[in-house]
Amino acid sequence: MSEANDAKHFDLISIGSGSAGRKVAVVLKRAGWNTALVEGRVDDHFGGTCINTGCIPTKALVEAAHNGYSFTQAKEHERKIVERIRKGTLRHVEERVGVPVIRGYASFVDDHTIEVNGEKYSADYFVVATGSEPAIPPIKGIDKVNYSTNEDILKLEKPPKHLLIIGGGRIGLEFGQMLHKFGSDVTIFEGMPQILPGEDREMADALKEHLTSLGIKIFTGRFVDEVKEVVKDDGSREFEVHLYEGENAGVYKGDMLLVSTGRKPRIGPLKLENAGVEVEKGAIKVNEFLQTNKPHIFAIGDVVGNPMFTNWAAFQAGVLIKNLKKSKTRSDDWKPLVAPSIPRITFTVPELASVGLTEEEARERYGEKVVVYKFYNKWLGKSMIVNDWVGFLKGIGIKGSNEIIGAHLWGVRTASLVQMLVLARDNGLGWKELGEMIYGHPVLAEGIEALGNNMTRLTQAE
Ligand SMILES: Cc1cc2nc3c(=O)[nH]c(=O)nc-3n(C[C@H](O)[C@H](O)[C@H](O)COP(=O)(O)OP(=O)(O)OC[C@H]3O[C@@H](n4cnc5c(N)ncnc54)[C@H](O)[C@@H]3O)c2cc1C
Repeated sequence: MSEANDAKHFDLISIGSGSAGRKVAVVLKRAGWNTALVEGRVDDHFGGTCINTGCIPTKALVEAAHNGYSFTQAKEHERKIVERIRKGTLRHVEERVGVPVIRGYASFVDDHTIEVNGEKYSADYFVVATGSEPAIPPIKGIDKVNYSTNEDILKLEKPPKHLLIIGGGRIGLEFGQMLHKFGSDVTIFEGMPQILPGEDREMADALKEHLTSLGIKIFTGRFVDEVKEVVKDDGSREFEVHLYEGENAGVYKGDMLLVSTGRKPRIGPLKLENAGVEVEKGAIKVNEFLQTNKPHIFAIGDVVGNPMFTNWAAFQAGVLIKNLKKSKTRSDDWKPLVAPSIPRITFTVPELASVGLTEEEARERYGEKVVVYKFYNKWLGKSMIVNDWVGFLKGIGIKGSNEIIGAHLWGVRTASLVQMLVLARDNGLGWKELGEMIYGHPVLAEGIEALGNNMTRLTQAE
């Protein structure tokens, strides 16, 4: 170990205070390890993207928009929640658990030493969990315009008049629908043939139709050709999105341009080359134990690539913690990272929650054996009671099998309902068990009961 003489030494240092890095530092500290946590933005970002600029603030604004708050009220609601969680999390880590928080950006000096604000710290083990940042596509003119990202949208003081969004994935749709609800005109450009690329086509198309019916303009299957920013005579800015050819060719103008075309691992300031840590396709390369090519340096969360979800980042941290608690060096009782069912949720209103394969993926894998059933929320008493029956639940199975191959739930509170399918899938239960248990009545979960019964009927039919 090349421990710098003047460095403060720890058993383990986590770099990044998000769901991934923070969990390792906290849980191992409680297990008796001497851990530390480094965070570059303690004042406005402690706890990482999810708490400060991702899951929590966006969902707070989405809920507020649909509960009839004004934009100012919604911002205040969101600010209070984020501040409360951020400060509470910092207090928990530093004061209650006693993990030292090193303030500043870490970069490696060598494979056992990092530098933060000119101070050196060494450790036996490192966990790199520096998250991700927006991936900006190489559209003509993009480097000359002041486009916005998710962080800029969260700093808005009033809704834009006309928001142009490049990227019809989760982030674009959630911000788009929310700002539309606050009064902005919204136009979304998605290059792939469907919104939510990679999700079930039928669900994505139904959601697109719904958002369009609300007045949001959505163009799919058409990559943007060029963007421009024009400063008008009165000093205000106008953004232009150019589609050169085809059915929707034209120039689309707005006063704000959000680029939400995906995210990439954040490795910039780390100077990984000083530690000899390998990077592959822009992400830190890890093995099944989340170990980099340096066995004492681990990487978890968004920084190792897709899928990029908080729950997945925290799950990886859990696998790493269990292994390190068993033995500090790789041994036979270390468990590899095996992906269980990961729920994928789009927090539009209503929500779209999915687990398992899409119909396209299922047909590619199982061909003719695939069975699909759809249950429409309008058939459910509780949907009428809550006065919201947009959407449907779609089950995907295979003939002769009880296995939940895929489930796609679009409707009120489906983000919570999908958890029943996750539990079933990961514990050897299937459609039959979902259909057979007794449900409360009237509840939205009765849609899952119907899905379970009908999928059993169809998959078991001769
Ligand atoms: C708009 C938006 C909405 C989202 N909504 C959801 C959602 O609803 N559900 C969901 O599951 N996921 C959601 N996500 C994804 C989720 O936020 C991430 O998957 C999750 O935060 C990843 O956790 P992490 O610990 O890997 O990294 P992060 O949470 O990004 O934490 C990394 C931390 O490291 C710090 N850092 C970076 N470099 C250094 C360095 N060199 N030294 C010190 N500190 C450093 C950063 O400041 C940051 O605080 C959303 C993301 C965005 C952008």
